[in-house]
Order: sequence, then structure tokens, then C-alpha cells
Amino acid sequence: MAFDINMIKEVYARYPERIEAARKVVGKPLTLTEKILYAHLSEGVASQAYSRGVSYVDFQPDRVAMQDATAQMALLQFMQAGKNQAAVPSTVHCDHLIQAEVGAVTDLAKANDKNKEVYDFLSSVSNKYGIGFWKPGAGIIHQVVLENYAFPGGMMIGTDSHTPNAGGLGMVAIGVGGADACDVMAGLPWELKFPKLIGVKLTGKLSGWTAAKDVILKVAGILTVKGGTGAIVEYFGDGARSLSATGKGTICNMGAEIGATTSIFGYDEKSAAYLEGTGRADIATLANGIASHLTGDDEVYANPEKYFDQVIEINLSELEPHVNGPFTPDLAWPISKFAAAVKENGWPAKLDVGLIGSCTNSSYEDISRAASLAQQAVDKKLVAKSEYTITPGSEQVRFTVDRDGFLDTFGQMGGVVLANACGPCIGQWARHGADKQEKNSIITSFNRNFAKRADGNPNTHAFVASPEIVTALAIAGDLTFNPLTDSLTNEDGQQVRLEEPRGLELPTLGFAVEDAGYQAPAEDGSKVNVSVSPTSDRLQLLESFKAWEGTDLKGLKLLIKAKGKCTTDHISMAGPWLRFRGHLDNISNNMLIGAVNAFNDQTNKVKNQLTGEFGEVPATQRAYKAAGIGTIVVGDENYGEGSSREHAAMEPRFLGVRAILVKSFARIHETNLKKQGMLALTFANPSDYELVKEDDTIDIVGLTTFAPDKQLQVVFHHSDGTSDTINVNHTYNQGQIEWFIAGSALNLIKEGL
Ligand code: SF4
Repeated sequence: MAFDINMIKEVYARYPERIEAARKVVGKPLTLTEKILYAHLSEGVASQAYSRGVSYVDFQPDRVAMQDATAQMALLQFMQAGKNQAAVPSTVHCDHLIQAEVGAVTDLAKANDKNKEVYDFLSSVSNKYGIGFWKPGAGIIHQVVLENYAFPGGMMIGTDSHTPNAGGLGMVAIGVGGADACDVMAGLPWELKFPKLIGVKLTGKLSGWTAAKDVILKVAGILTVKGGTGAIVEYFGDGARSLSATGKGTICNMGAEIGATTSIFGYDEKSAAYLEGTGRADIATLANGIASHLTGDDEVYANPEKYFDQVIEINLSELEPHVNGPFTPDLAWPISKFAAAVKENGWPAKLDVGLIGSCTNSSYEDISRAASLAQQAVDKKLVAKSEYTITPGSEQVRFTVDRDGFLDTFGQMGGVVLANACGPCIGQWARHGADKQEKNSIITSFNRNFAKRADGNPNTHAFVASPEIVTALAIAGDLTFNPLTDSLTNEDGQQVRLEEPRGLELPTLGFAVEDAGYQAPAEDGSKVNVSVSPTSDRLQLLESFKAWEGTDLKGLKLLIKAKGKCTTDHISMAGPWLRFRGHLDNISNNMLIGAVNAFNDQTNKVKNQLTGEFGEVPATQRAYKAAGIGTIVVGDENYGEGSSREHAAMEPRFLGVRAILVKSFARIHETNLKKQGMLALTFANPSDYELVKEDDTIDIVGLTTFAPDKQLQVVFHHSDGTSDTINVNHTYNQGQIEWFIAGSALNLIKEGL
């Protein structure tokens, strides 16, 4: 599991020259975020200043991290690139597929059985292509990355929305779709819109019941779930430097809840202490050598309004513990106001379950502080009134807190230790009785609390808080309990108070672990076979998409003219379909089933022009495919908004759709379509959308002279014998046209080898 010190040396070696170049082109002092971004430009030194929120820029990330659910399609695609090894250090983490039910040992054994074929595939494909593999039970991706791979000034992409967790250690770490991970592993640059910058100045110092989690709970309340969109949030100030590295990780992790691209803290003494504490003193030594590049310039932090697009200031000395929720992470309540809010809104005051841990809050500091409260409960003869679970973020943390007696303390309080995995945080929670859909309350130290996320019950009111507050409220069994002011009645009928939690940022005896759960890849992977059963319904090896036939596309049929919003969820629904995310054929049975047909205002009901009958979209498309007939999909504005899910582009390509013609695209989806060798076209005149008729046969003309900035023509042959010819726009550059010609970006990479 060794981190790649030589890679880090190379990254740091290029910092001085790149920062100097960036200073020249930007022409003013630099934020930390700008320094890291300019140091990772894929074309080398900065030749221009990029407009925030406007310019699309190619970057070269240093690392890739993938969780097991999203890694499947990323790696199936990567296998198509024909490479021997991943181009950058990469890891896979088996954390999302373990269901919490009874406790760590039983649940893990069950998951190993149920997901065997997926784990075998991920293990063998990692082994073959030089990718580190973290087995089920090894821990949650973000905690494992923070402990082992994150480094100040680095850039990482990860196939999970909480990848920004590594920002706690000064890394620009961004959540992406599997196709992006595949590209970077194949050695291609990675495109990002140059972000806007939000500065958060932290002053003062945390004390008492307040924890790092309360900073992001407060920020979420200020910025709301949309306020960080398109921005990187950079924290600075004396208060920032006073926080532990893992506390910073918590803040960056939950920054995903305000829609931020990522969040980041600068390198400081706390970062160095954490690197040393996790066996990476040599990285701290290297970072000390370029420390001035691993934080924003003094002028920036002295006058942040001049350099950030928005500035927020929070005094940690005055910050109260918060509880956010229910149903949304930005409904922020200081603890002093929370009890009244519970009563006024009629939320169930009885607390059924308190859950601590997850990737957000399972550091040694978190666990030790929560355990100090559990110990008080035991000492003061308080019996926890709620159920209470602990999800350690990694085996290293679990082993260490077990050695130090904290798990035993939780056990005495009635706590149950779950597997080192996502579990209840992602709905992998076989919560007994949840199917009755009763109104109830739970509180977690996780990051997301949308309806149904934890247990599938829409009436579960989920609140989010620090592990300390979760523990105190679980002891009380009552959401209206304020541990800062209220007392509890113990077994002897006495009134007792919980004292402020206490803990340690790092273990005095150091971290320890017997088996971290890591599998190093083979030195030479050429002989390693990748295990995929041909009869599997969850995994399927991909076949290369066919290259363009070299002619205009004639005689296409209209599959669907979608009306209104058509997000990646409408194109490729999640929920039960996630089970098939490694099996393109099976998951394609969800293609466009959420899109509204403009001709009948219904979903998943389109006319099959071959039979005249109406059927489901995927089945109709399969009928065209079987007949060797290509189709086109017509759409409205901002087609493909939502996630970067590559399935939304792969499914139509796989089933034989040739072009998507819309009024406008969400950019990520448009790029995904291009990568898969599809034609992504827009109406030159948006009102031409009205010309498209249900029985149209369609030609796409001009492909033999397909060129950047040159329109193509589309001819609609209507069933009454008339036709309309229109101009359509595209945004393909020459490189992307090559993808189309080759059949996909991956085909082109393979051809180049
Ligand atoms: S613990 Fe929760 S937030 Fe963290 S990676 Fe797992 S599912 Fe995502």
C-alpha cells in the first residue's frame, strides 16, 4: 500500500516553475487553489490566466481512487484502452456493497458471499493493471485515501462524490464519473471548468462540545445545497490552522453537500503531524521544502475579498454545536435552538438510533471524543436510550481504537460495531421494521440525510451532527436534549450531566493494524486473467464500439422526441438498476425510461415504426437494432444535466442510437457522448425541434467533411412524403472528430498503441 514517494517528488519539483509562470499570467497574488490547479495543467506551464467559472481547462491529476460500485464500469472501460498499466497510481476500495445488519463479522461474511463475482472481478482487474486493491472490510475509500495516499498540493480524481475529503490534507480532490477515471488511467488529460473560489476565513478556536463537523454544518446553512456549485471552497486563517487534519477532512468531505467542486485547506503543522502519525514523515519533509507553495499567498489571506469570488467568516470560539436536518443537510440548527425546532415542526422527539462513523467522521479524534461520552454514561449509570452503532472508516482506525479500549467502552453502552464500510450511510442497512414506514427520528455523523437514504423509509427523519452530539443524544434517547445545558436521570434516579467530550487527535501509542486489507498489484500483470463469468447478470466485458462506416447516416428512425427535463436520471435511472452498473446489456434496459415522449406525454412509451405499435423505449430500440436500423433521440434544453454517469452515454451507443439532437446539452453529458463515439448535435434554430414528427425517417448529412465549427445537415422525411432539411451545430474539435471516426475515444487510444 506504499504511497508513491517518487511521484510526489516529481509533483513538488515542478511547483516552483509552474507557480512562477502562473504568477506572471494571473498578475496578482495566488490562492492555494490556483497554485494547485496551475501546477497540474496538462500542457505544462501556464500560458494564460483562466476565467473562473468560464474556461474549460485540461489537467493532469496525480491519482485516481475508485469505490467498488463505480469502479466496475470505469475498469471495464479501461480494459478497452489496451494499456498494460494504469498511467497514474490508482486504487479500488470495496466499501459500498456491504450491508449492515447484525455487526461487522457476520455482515462482512455475507457481503463476501453475495458480491463475490464483483469482488473477484475488481481484485483481478486491479492485479492485472497495477492498481492497488482494498478488500471488503479494509475501510471506506475516503478514510483509507486520507490515511495512505492524500498529500498536500496533489490533485486526485475519485469516482465518488465525497472524494473532496482529501482536501483536509491539502489536496484538490474531485468526484467524477467512471469515464473520467478511465481517461486519466489511460493517460488522457482531464477537463474541468476553472472553478470560482469561495474563501472561508476561520478565526478563534474550537472548544468544549463544538467540533470540526460544526464548521461545515454552519457553512451548509449559509451556502445551502446549491451555494457552492462550480466553486472550490478554500479555508484559511488562524482557526483553520488550529484544526486537526482529520477535522479538516470532515469539513472538506461534507463540502459536497453544498455542491462545491471540492474544498481545501493549506498545508500546516497539523498536516505534518498527521502525515507523521500515519507513517509518512518523508512526505512531510518534502512538503516542508515547498511549504510556501502549499498555502495561499499572504496578500490573499490579508484581503480575501479582493481575491475570492465570495468570502465567509466564522469565529470558531463562538461556534455552537449544530444539528442539521431533517431531509436536507443545509437546514442548520444551533443546538440551543434545536429543541424548539423539533417541537414546533412536530418531528419525532424520541430518538430511535444514533449512528457514528462513516467516511465523514471516523477519525481517531472523533472516536476518542465520542468514547469519552460513552465512558461517562457507563460511569454515571446512564443507560443509552437509543440504539447506537459505530462504523469505523478503516481497519487501521478500527484496530487502533479497539486496542485503546474505545470499542469496549461503546459495547458497555450498548453500541454495535458495524463493518468498516458505507453501510447505513448509503442505504445498505437492513434496518428491522423500516418497511413499516413509521415516522421516526435517527441522527448520524454522516454527511447526507435525504429522505430514504439510510433505511429506505421516507418517514425516517434523519439529522446530521458531530459524533459527540450524536452520542450525547443517543444516550438521552431524545432529540430535545441539549447536553450543554440539560441533565439526565440515571439508573439511581439521580440527575447527572455529561461533561464536555475529550479526545486525542492522534493515538499516543501510534496507529496499529494487523491486516489492513490491502492487495498490491502484480509486478507483471500480463499473465493475470480477469475473472468475469459469461453467465453473470452483474458484470459483462465490453466490446469495442464499431468505427464510423465512412458515409452519411441515412434512413435513421426517430426513437423518442423527449420533452422538457431529461437528466441523466431520466436517461439511466439509478435505484435498483445500480446492481447492473457493471453489465452494459442489462443496465441498458433502463435507457430513457424516465424521458417524457413529446407525442403522448407519457414515459417509456414510444412508437415502433417497424410495427406501428407502442412499446417501452429500450425494447423498441432493441427491435431497431435487431433490424440493423440506426435511430436518433431528439431532446429539449440542457439535455443530460445531473450526474457525470457514463451509462447515460454508453447505453444509447450500445443499443444502436446514432445521434442525440437537442436544443442544448449539459456539457459533461455532451462530452461523454462524444467519448463514446456518438453524434451530439444541437438545433441551429431551436424552433426546428417542432419540425420533428413521430414517424420521421432521418438522414444526417455532411459527415464525410465533418470538421470543427462546420454545421451538419439533418433531413426529416415525414410520412406524408414531405421533408424538412435543417442545419445543426456541434462542438467537436478535431480530436473529438477522431473519436467519432474511430468509434470511441478508447478505440482511438487503442489504435495509437
Ligand atoms: S460512507 Fe457514505 S458518504 Fe462516505 S463514501 Fe460511503 S456512502 Fe459515500
